[in-house]
Amino acid sequence: MIKLVCRDYGFECDFVAEGTMVSEVMELFAKHTSEEHGIRHSKDKIQFMLRNRSKNNMSKNDVENFVNKANAERNRLEKWKIGRGNFP
Ligand SMILES: [Zn+2]
Repeated sequence: MIKLVCRDYGFECDFVAEGTMVSEVMELFAKHTSEEHGIRHSKDKIQFMLRNRSKNNMSKNDVENFVNKANAERNRLEKWKIGRGNFP
């Protein structure tokens, strides 16, 4: 099942385009965004969005974990830099 959630793309909206085929979901989502939000996504753009999602398939938790890891890594690097500054 392929899913595109309007909310995930920055809209305050609970619309979900669902289907078994990419072209089907793209059509639904494009129709919805142009009718409800007055935005025309090109098919290329929607295809890109879908490809990104299926590649990462990240849930909100995954995103949080990813951000936390990135922050931890940055903190580690900063400590390392400070350490090196103190002890050249
Ligand atoms: Zn919407």
